[in-house]
Amino acid sequence: RDWPRSYALPYDELQDILMSTPNEEQVKEWSEYYTSGPHLAGKNFSQALWTKDRWQEFGITDTSIVSYDVYVNYPIGHRLALLEKKGEKKEEPTKDNWVVKFEAGLEENVHKEDGTSGLEDRIPTFHGYSASGNATAPFVYANYGTHQDFEDLLEADISVKGKIVLVKYGYIFRGLKVKRAQDLGAVGVVIYSDPGDDGDETEEKGVDTYPNGPAREPSSVQRGSVQFLSIAPGDPTTPGYPSKPGVPRQDTQHSIPSIPSIPISYLDALPLLRALNGYGPKASSIGKSWEGGGLGYKGVEYNIGPSPDGLLLNLVNEQEYVTTPMWNVIGIINGSLSDEVVLIGNHRDAWIAGGAADPNSGSATFIEVIRSFGKALEKGWRPLRTIVFASWDGEEYGLIGSTEWVEEFLPWLSGSAVAYLNVDVAVSGPHFKSAASPVLNRALYEITSLVASPNQTIAGQTVRDTWSGHIQTMGSGSDYTAFQDFAGIPCVDMGFSVGPESAVYHYHSNYDSFDWMDKFGDPGWRYHVTVAKLWSLLAAKLVESPLIQFNVTDYAVGLGRYLRSLENEASQSLEGIADENNGGELRDLFDTTFAHLKRSIKKLRKAAIELDTYATELEERLGEDIPWWEWWKKVKLFYEVKKVNNKYKYFERQFLYPQGLDGRSWFKHVVFAPGLWTGYSGATFPGLVESIGERNWTNAKRWSRIIDNRVKLATELFG
Ligand code: GLU
Ligand code: CA
Ligand code: ZN
Ligand code: ZN
Repeated sequence: RDWPRSYALPYDELQDILMSTPNEEQVKEWSEYYTSGPHLAGKNFSQALWTKDRWQEFGITDTSIVSYDVYVNYPIGHRLALLEKKGEKKEEPTKDNWVVKFEAGLEENVHKEDGTSGLEDRIPTFHGYSASGNATAPFVYANYGTHQDFEDLLEADISVKGKIVLVKYGYIFRGLKVKRAQDLGAVGVVIYSDPGDDGDETEEKGVDTYPNGPAREPSSVQRGSVQFLSIAPGDPTTPGYPSKPGVPRQDTQHSIPSIPSIPISYLDALPLLRALNGYGPKASSIGKSWEGGGLGYKGVEYNIGPSPDGLLLNLVNEQEYVTTPMWNVIGIINGSLSDEVVLIGNHRDAWIAGGAADPNSGSATFIEVIRSFGKALEKGWRPLRTIVFASWDGEEYGLIGSTEWVEEFLPWLSGSAVAYLNVDVAVSGPHFKSAASPVLNRALYEITSLVASPNQTIAGQTVRDTWSGHIQTMGSGSDYTAFQDFAGIPCVDMGFSVGPESAVYHYHSNYDSFDWMDKFGDPGWRYHVTVAKLWSLLAAKLVESPLIQFNVTDYAVGLGRYLRSLENEASQSLEGIADENNGGELRDLFDTTFAHLKRSIKKLRKAAIELDTYATELEERLGEDIPWWEWWKKVKLFYEVKKVNNKYKYFERQFLYPQGLDGRSWFKHVVFAPGLWTGYSGATFPGLVESIGERNWTNAKRWSRIIDNRVKLATELFG
């Protein structure tokens, strides 16, 4: 027989099955199941079993549950109240001389039109990994709570020390807002959803609120983790190793907050913001990025504060911390090649009962992907490469299921993983979005060109046609993180997202529900079906093609681009600070170190072009007929294919630096990491960027050398 190849089904027939199996009614049915009740991390065992049963029913016989013992919090109680003093100023706050001016509801409204909003056992509003605490203090408004926002406050001589900080959601990962506030001495953080960030679909602009219309339901609250994601994801007590029963547990002070925080709705934020009217500078006077805010029409003037004497905020957060099991569902289809593995995954845990977008648009779609591959198995198909399916638990608290699993199977993954394809939120709106390691860009373009777009403006348009084609660099915020940044495995993340004109997506709120999805998010369920097709076709391409479908030239070109933009930014932000000595060091950094790195990247690019060209040539030769009596030619060809595939497979691993990034050694990748103060959006060459940010030229040079060495290793691998 021929080798390498898959059994029994030609590739185009497999593609036909993957294209024709997913359907709207089925995906809707899976969504209905997944969104029917609470399934917080560590409290979703019945859904893990259900998922396993479906996978087995659809032919993934080798499916099992892999569990970890994880340190997490569950909500007990909370309070947020404005306290006003009556009588003399010098009195200490006691029960008797302070009155409650406003007591926040901290609850989302129940609507009869939204089936899960009124569940008895609905999940309270809280922050994952938030600290318990009871703080009574004056408060200040700090815009989005970005690193720059806090810098701006310092500049304006407004201290957050000893105060409670009120910030809006947006721009950066919420845990890093809490981290910066904590670093600066704040005693608590309150984060609210400002409708100014909801684009056109706001009540202010006359749009009806959910469930009557697409605008934000005023009581909606964004739950979510406040773990320090950019320092390390996963169980905060076991950084770098799996949370198996009995393992040693580390102190958590570097990875989760020690001050309390809670999330609130804009309805609850209104009285607090209004109470700051007239106190301290206007937000808009602090800087350009402080302008805006969508509550002006409700009488909010957006002052910074601090709140006046005689007005304090009382923030109570009560959390129970436990070490409890979490369950990943892992399914395997063994391929002819056991040392080349393609993984695909999605998380199953949700903050709320519904979670119709997050994660269940992904989870429901995932079942359709598995049902599609099951149809192929029924026809006798066996894949060329091995496929691993993963339904992760604990993503919401901190990418826990995936991180612990990668930490446990790192040796096996390092030797055999080809790629990991993640879908978290498959659908929250109509705009296709993706992030990927550049080796996968071309595969992504090709696959999106095969699938019809659900929002065609011209008949016949594909997803590729209606998408800008912009592929983001890998940051964090979903389960690809451990694969990409800890294990050096190329990843893709994709889905359809919201735009300013689409119905407000009530992220991590009760209104991310089946009813919202059915009425506003994806009424015909066609976006779900589209993602199912994209996801399985991409997997099939990576699994079935004799040559691994990577393009390393794109990666090398990317490296060149990242360095150029880093240089530009550095030279701009360093303008004017070059005193004699610094000037010398800077010149050296630019003229010697960067120049050196550029040369290395150029060499890598040359080797990459050669490898990609050779791979294309091999692909052509595989298509040629070789007579049986020249069998040795075939053997030689297959040997060459395996050699090239090994180079592709191990390529991205070369960019791992075992000691990790400064101050966050869990992150091993020298090219991609979540931004230290963004969390979600990615930084390229993070070690270098951060040392330049600190103006530590010695360290910048050290990082240039570290990166240079990795680039050389990758080049040698191709040699
Ligand atoms: N997707 C989750 C979020 O954005 C991830 C949480 C985390 O990485 O800690 O809230
Ligand atoms: Ca761990
Ligand atoms: Zn998610
Ligand atoms: Zn989420």
